[in-house]
Amino acid sequence: MAIVLDGKKVRDEIKKELREKIGGFSGKPKLAIIQIGNNKESAAYVRQKKLFAESIGALAEHIQLSADVQLAEVLKTVERFNKDTDTHGILLQLPIPETLDSDVIIEAILPGKDVDGLGSVNVKLLWENKTTGFTPATTKGILSLLHYYKIPVAGKRVVVVGRSFLVGKPTAIALLNADATVTVAHSKTVNCSEVTRSADILIIAAGKPHFIQKDDVREGQIVIDVGITAVTGEKLNDEVAEVTITGDVHFDDVKDIVGAISPVPGGVGPMTVASLFQNLVSAYERQNS
Ligand code: NAP
Repeated sequence: MAIVLDGKKVRDEIKKELREKIGGFSGKPKLAIIQIGNNKESAAYVRQKKLFAESIGALAEHIQLSADVQLAEVLKTVERFNKDTDTHGILLQLPIPETLDSDVIIEAILPGKDVDGLGSVNVKLLWENKTTGFTPATTKGILSLLHYYKIPVAGKRVVVVGRSFLVGKPTAIALLNADATVTVAHSKTVNCSEVTRSADILIIAAGKPHFIQKDDVREGQIVIDVGITAVTGEKLNDEVAEVTITGDVHFDDVKDIVGAISPVPGGVGPMTVASLFQNLVSAYERQNS
């Protein structure tokens, strides 16, 4: 049986470190979370962030804007938090309604408060392998999970499945910065199975439940499953159906082949939240130094 890379355990250690660090601050790091519309999953993610903030002694202000809000109104909100010296990080909860351009909103966030690391200044700093920017939370979480379990990255063959702006690309770049030899696979990749089997470390961010099965992996591989898909199962009663969170990897199919694997839930998900707050605490420190 593979070693299970327990993201909850690592998250709890990060939580403790952050709580202790914040305890020594004269103020409290504060994150402003801007949510637009009523996406149910976003609401759950916002709740998670608020709970995490509370557990480490940080503040999280949730700004809920209606789905038909005008861009100017959103930009005014961003500007208010840019100017507010008591707010150290600003996050746009994605996705937002298609009528609005998330790029314009993210670009309006001051780079020093862009703790999600999605603005062009922070993206460039990541590309340049400079440590002065903020790395997107999921990418940072994946690297921290590997680091915690003492899994070396330098010189290893890493395959990232997925090339999104949010996960696949920054993860590939961060691993390249860490001296891995990186291949990025996507929906047009021919013989994807052959590519995934070639990896020492396989990172899947495709958003396809159980996409990776036993024939896609090989013995001893490290598998990081980023995928999170809510799958509706049997009806529990007339109105409610069972919903389970499923990863991109068929855990049971591969667990006796690979060397280590991050579970879903309980792997990269908890690491993402913890990493976001590591970025917030860094932002606080920089703004108060
Ligand atoms: P996304 O924007 O939909 O990107 C999915 C990527 O997977 C695309 O690059 C796509 O290729 C590729 N892909 C799709 N089908 C494929 C196939 N059959 N073979 C190879 N590649 C394929 O999704 P995302 O935002 O990156 O998120 C990916 C997953 O991670 C989702 O399940 C999301 O919920 C999850 N996620 C988890 C966390 C966390 O904290 N654990 C954070 C963020 C996201 P093309 O570019 O060719 O279309």
